[in-house]
Amino acid sequence: MNEKQRLESKQIEAANSSDKKSAKDYSKYFEQVITAPSLKDAKKRGKEEVKYHNDFSIPEEFRGMGEGRKFYIRTYGCQMNEHDTEVMAGIFLALGYEPTDKTEDANVILLNTCAIRENAENKVFGELGHLKHLKLEKPDLLIGVCGCMSQEESVVNKILKTYNQVDMIFGTHNIHRLPNILHEAYMSKEMVVEVWSKEGDVIENLPKVRRGNIKAWVNIMYGCDKFCTYCIVPFTRGKERSRRPEEIIQEVRHLAAQGYQEVTLLGQNVNAYGKDLEDINYGLGNLMDELRKIDIPRIRFTTSHPRDFDDHLIEVLAKGGNLMDHIHLPVQSGSTDVLKIMARKYTREQYLELVRKIKAAIPNVALTTDIIVGYPNETDEQFEETLSLYREVGYELAYTFIYSPREGTPAAKMQDNVPMEVKKERLQRLNALVNEQSAEAMKKYKGQIVEVLVEGESKNNPDVLAGYTSRSKLVNFAAPKSAIGKIVKVRITDAKTWSLNGEMVEELEPVEVK
Ligand code: SF4
Repeated sequence: MNEKQRLESKQIEAANSSDKKSAKDYSKYFEQVITAPSLKDAKKRGKEEVKYHNDFSIPEEFRGMGEGRKFYIRTYGCQMNEHDTEVMAGIFLALGYEPTDKTEDANVILLNTCAIRENAENKVFGELGHLKHLKLEKPDLLIGVCGCMSQEESVVNKILKTYNQVDMIFGTHNIHRLPNILHEAYMSKEMVVEVWSKEGDVIENLPKVRRGNIKAWVNIMYGCDKFCTYCIVPFTRGKERSRRPEEIIQEVRHLAAQGYQEVTLLGQNVNAYGKDLEDINYGLGNLMDELRKIDIPRIRFTTSHPRDFDDHLIEVLAKGGNLMDHIHLPVQSGSTDVLKIMARKYTREQYLELVRKIKAAIPNVALTTDIIVGYPNETDEQFEETLSLYREVGYELAYTFIYSPREGTPAAKMQDNVPMEVKKERLQRLNALVNEQSAEAMKKYKGQIVEVLVEGESKNNPDVLAGYTSRSKLVNFAAPKSAIGKIVKVRITDAKTWSLNGEMVEELEPVEVK
């Protein structure tokens, strides 16, 4: 009996019973459901109070929906998307589905998308083209698009018009509605589109299937209110909403008890954590100060915004211990004029002052960053300022990008007068400096003994293990497989631009949770 027949029988059952309400409940599955996104609405930042729900559960009528079926999720973009995929995988398992890593074996395929740059979007449309053939072979296959692209009107309209192999589109604010949306997709002949423009409440206790049992993502907040002029995130992820500290602390305690060795606190702008919690005066510094008391060897956080990186956080990070001495601090440009056009809300001097404070408090800190080149109107002189700032800070790594206009963002309306060949030439020059400084930084490790959290076999050689230092340096070294998941001491014998080679000197006992 397929899903449609199962619900039709439930509806007839309900219709024959005195329970009229439930009859109506089932009927809605047969209507076409379209809730399309609106960037105009998404831009609004209402004062409506954010509610916290920690009673998520799979609705009774949906239990068992996945029996004998398999799901496949392809994830694009940032850690926040990876985290959402862990939640959706948890919901699929709770519905009775099994995971598969082959699209041809799947009964449901979800593309969890990223809207940060054009090429990320093109990849998704390419993938949808490929899936069309699979859909012709397997008409019962359900194909869904979720994540940040689904929050963009132009994308939803394009899929509605051109990609009729897609059965469901839902956004970043309602992944907890996945059981309902799947049902509607099984029932409806039409494409189901349920994208909320307005961010919803904070839903706790969502099921999760974490990738691995060594490191875990713990999201501490959703959304961003910074509205950098090039960025689509405030539109696709909504306003800043912090989780309650007690929920986060409990989650990290739970992970520590399960033997996880590292947690990374996630948010689009983690330094704004707590600003929306009106009943308590509580920020990221307070949270880190609490978490460092938990018996877990490593705690990290990403992504930071210099504007909200306060002295209290620096003070707490300086306590060290299980707070890692690596800070990713996106600067985007070294020119105050360009930073102004980007609406980053800090100047070159203010950024350098923050770096000075961090280095004074945490002398060994490794700093990394994000940089955009070729922003509208960026001059050669302004680009030179980016290079000089890069040298002055002494970054050990940077993620570098050519500016990519995002429809709906203020920057997309700016006249982009920097020719592509100039953008490419600037990116090349910047990447050359990034490589040079990284190679310099790596050289310092030669002969040193470092602690490495072993994550598994190295990509290129299964007899060699790989892991990261506290400052996020990749180390490859020969060691018994029993070292995987542990923190071991490694003497560095060779340094490359992006990785270190070494030999294990000692296996440290994993922290016993008392
Ligand atoms: S802080 Fe980051 S996520 Fe927020 S608008 Fe700026 S670039 Fe986007």
